[in-house]
Amino acid sequence: MSRIAYVDGRYVPHRYASVHIEDRGFQFADGIYEVVAVIGGRRFDEPRHLDRLERSLGEIDIMMPMSRAALACVMDEVVRRNRVTDGILYLQITRGSAPRDHGWRDGVSPKMVVTSRHQPAPSGQTIENGVPVITAPDQRWRRNDIKSVALLGNVLGKQKARRAGAYETWMVDSTGMVTEGTSTNAWIVVGGQIITRPLGPDILGGITRAAVLDIARELQITVDQRPFSVDEAGDADEAFLTSTTAYIIPVTQIDEKVVGTGKPGPVTARLLENYHRLIDEFLKS
Ligand code: PLP
Repeated sequence: MSRIAYVDGRYVPHRYASVHIEDRGFQFADGIYEVVAVIGGRRFDEPRHLDRLERSLGEIDIMMPMSRAALACVMDEVVRRNRVTDGILYLQITRGSAPRDHGWRDGVSPKMVVTSRHQPAPSGQTIENGVPVITAPDQRWRRNDIKSVALLGNVLGKQKARRAGAYETWMVDSTGMVTEGTSTNAWIVVGGQIITRPLGPDILGGITRAAVLDIARELQITVDQRPFSVDEAGDADEAFLTSTTAYIIPVTQIDEKVVGTGKPGPVTARLLENYHRLIDEFLKS
């Protein structure tokens, strides 16, 4: 089956799906994106993703190219045409196409691309064994709360992890504190308490992060939203990472240091069990 993409008003086979060379997303990374999990053919936690999309666009002064209702129709259609049951939907909105000039002129109309593809949930083995992460300096710009397509720092960080045989790189700020993973949020558990960096310009407000905070509240697990250092993470009882595609994955090694017993811990397991419960409820709804 040939894959179909939505590109600026048309549904086209991937082979023909392209944007103009003067699209500002291509020239300047002047755009915003979202990744939504498709589970059972439907988009999981969509309202939160759309809230974040609108916020990100607002922060860089790009208009939503269409209403939420119209966008929902496009997303439905892309998922349907690609026959995706379990996977992801990718959506990107750039400022549009214009003669190259750093500043933009009013009247450039945003361009939107939507794709969807099958992608399996994390394997049982990954969840049972946990994954290693490495750490590296956070080399990104200073507005990581905006889900911008300017991902070079993240790309280089992820590649570093890949070369090291690790799942992810936890990025570290100039004071030695972990910000987040290159495409995931970072968490540790100390004495039964969950610790994660607070929202702010240093991290992306993950949708899975928000869901995990809801679950923790429900389970009455204390959450301390504060920065933690690499050393503290290495000495933690448990560690894990979260994202739309990773869900919740236990982290069992940080650089050379084994975390806790070296096996996924009980707090992470409870969160994961309850995240799966949310998914089950969504599938039944
Ligand atoms: N942090 C970064 C830098 C990301 O790119 C992502 C996801 O792409 C996340 C965190 C996790 O966010 P979410 O849970 O919304 O997927």
